[in-house]
Amino acid sequence: MSQIHAPFRRLLAHGLQAVVVATVAVAVAGALIVPGGARAQGNALFVPVPALDPPLLRFTWTPAELTEACADAELKANAALKALVAIPDASRTFSNTVVALDRAVASYQEVAGRVMFMKDIHPDAAVRDVAAACEERSGKFMVALSARQDVYQAMQGWQTNEGSRLRLDNEDARLVDLTMRDFKRNGLLLSDADRQKLIKLRSRITELQTRYSKTLNDDKTTLSFSKDDLLGLPDDFIAAHEDKKMKPGRYTLTTKYPDYYPVMEGAKKDATRQKMEKAFMNRGGAKNPKLLDEAVGLRNQAAKLLGYATHADYVAEDRMAQNAATVAAFLARMQEGLKPALEKDRQKMLALKVKDESGAKVINAWDWRYYMNQIKRTEHAINDDEVRSWFPADKVMSGMFRVYETVLGITLNPVKKAPVWAEGVTLYEVTDTATKRLLARFYVDLFPREGKYGHAAEFTLSPGQATADGRGYRVPMCALVMNVQPPVDGVASFLSMSEVETLFHEFGHVMHESLTVARHPSQAGTRTALDFVEAPSQMLENWAYEPDVLALISEDPTNPDKSMPAALAEKLKKARKYNAGVHSSRQVFLATFDQRIHTSARVDSDAIAKKTWAEVLAFPEDKAGHFAGTFGHMMGGYDGGYYGYLWSEVFAADMWTRFQKEGVMNPVVGRAYRDKVIARGRTVEPDALLRDFLGRAANETAFLEVLGIQPGPAPAPAPAPAPVK
Ligand SMILES: [Zn+2]
Repeated sequence: MSQIHAPFRRLLAHGLQAVVVATVAVAVAGALIVPGGARAQGNALFVPVPALDPPLLRFTWTPAELTEACADAELKANAALKALVAIPDASRTFSNTVVALDRAVASYQEVAGRVMFMKDIHPDAAVRDVAAACEERSGKFMVALSARQDVYQAMQGWQTNEGSRLRLDNEDARLVDLTMRDFKRNGLLLSDADRQKLIKLRSRITELQTRYSKTLNDDKTTLSFSKDDLLGLPDDFIAAHEDKKMKPGRYTLTTKYPDYYPVMEGAKKDATRQKMEKAFMNRGGAKNPKLLDEAVGLRNQAAKLLGYATHADYVAEDRMAQNAATVAAFLARMQEGLKPALEKDRQKMLALKVKDESGAKVINAWDWRYYMNQIKRTEHAINDDEVRSWFPADKVMSGMFRVYETVLGITLNPVKKAPVWAEGVTLYEVTDTATKRLLARFYVDLFPREGKYGHAAEFTLSPGQATADGRGYRVPMCALVMNVQPPVDGVASFLSMSEVETLFHEFGHVMHESLTVARHPSQAGTRTALDFVEAPSQMLENWAYEPDVLALISEDPTNPDKSMPAALAEKLKKARKYNAGVHSSRQVFLATFDQRIHTSARVDSDAIAKKTWAEVLAFPEDKAGHFAGTFGHMMGGYDGGYYGYLWSEVFAADMWTRFQKEGVMNPVVGRAYRDKVIARGRTVEPDALLRDFLGRAANETAFLEVLGIQPGPAPAPAPAPAPVK
């Protein structure tokens, strides 16, 4: 799951969701016109000219230097905007106003983003602390910037002068449309009084969000168990939790994920799981559901002020779904379609539960993770440790590179002697195999360290962009951060199947970032609609289960010349969706809860959660629990947008059908995927990318089939392309 969250988290963590405006480097001289000859490549956006390099990542900082860099980025951005605002309207050009704004913002985000990245990777805690402070400061700066009236008036000034006469191509026209739409979404079209009201609402929402998250992060609940209570859990897990301060034989657990999941999945005793579930579902205390209720009400007021029917409509406007009704219809179809799969899972779970407790009739909220895990163990007989022994990290990395190189027409090479911030970190170059042109650079930081970002994610360091004169391309740079088991005492590192899948997923984001040809930085790489951005990477996860790919990334533990046998590969593939009924239904529950509260003016989120849980999941929430007080996503930037996880899976599955039909290692399909989907960023909307790649409109059929759902006679069409408003 963590891999699916990553880019969202990245974008949100850097405070960009509230932002709007586009994206780097200060004033631009000439117009950005791609030479006509570029189109010969079969890709209207390709720029066959020498690449320009962004600087390598600086990581030698003192805390004081880093603080200064953070402040300096603001000064430079403000200076660039001051120059932009000072231009007389009659002298405004697309280049000195529209492009200059995009680049001033992108330049700020690039510099500040690199400073903030130190929070996630720097070995020195003092530097990380300063970087975290910069992140908070940067969030505020961007919110203020995106609401600047003088900048908005400069854009209007251009529109009423040169903008009223100039004919722009699609890519440039989109830059204007998206920038103006963002101004609208930030309240620049409102009266002064209403805009002040909006600012007040948003700042109160931010306060509520901070308080809600802090309660969750600060939860110090501990639970005491006997050894007998922990039956079913691994010995080393139990030993690690022995509480030496209490009387012997007592074990203390917290409600944090590394304790919660093992207990819910492995503890044999019903009472142990129930106790943990109750504590976990009360981490938000009595207050958090009320904070969420208040935030939902304020979000609704803000949406109304801006002219939207609901907050969910406001959020969807900027995404593929476009409106809340489309999301609601999608979730209803998924809920209905998943019913047989969920019922099948429920029956299987119940059959196992009856063996433990004769006459059992109900799967409780504290049962499902345990019995789904039992199904995985008994039905699929997968031994995770045995599978891990087939995936040495070096082999997986080199094999994965071969796969991406072959399919996407690129060459990946380490940059020798490049300075890096920790042992084991490597800088790579991406070149186009046919033209030998440099396309991008990226860092890979695979192993855990004290204080390092704890999940898997791709971080943008420089978005791609055309040079000011349109003749060159400044290549993108990003970093892949993972946390796989490190090599110990000369014993190589091995990856679990889920880590292999995560690696393919995250590397998909690296490719999305690296292979961009978008002219404007705000449209480059992964800066696409947030309910589509996961789709390319979700699709690439499929590769990790294909025999042709496994042949390149796996190695027989006893014979390095052999790769994983077909039978084991087949078993892994079959087991992959073992929990689709429950897992996807739970996603429907989470997204439906989100949509229900965010299409209302006033809510009792605790009651809505209980009702929705019972309706969608066919087993009720624990009466003693309060899910609504623990769903951090609702107060951490996913409000109104949680459906995106499931939504993007639809398009991932549909895109994958071309690889399935024409060959998973087919370079022709790979090239089409590169040019028609990932290279284009947000220069066109996702449904148009999909239409180009698939040769037809995207649909839900493949996704439903993956979930074991028989597609209905008339599958709902994908959302129609709509002009940017
Ligand atoms: Zn992702």
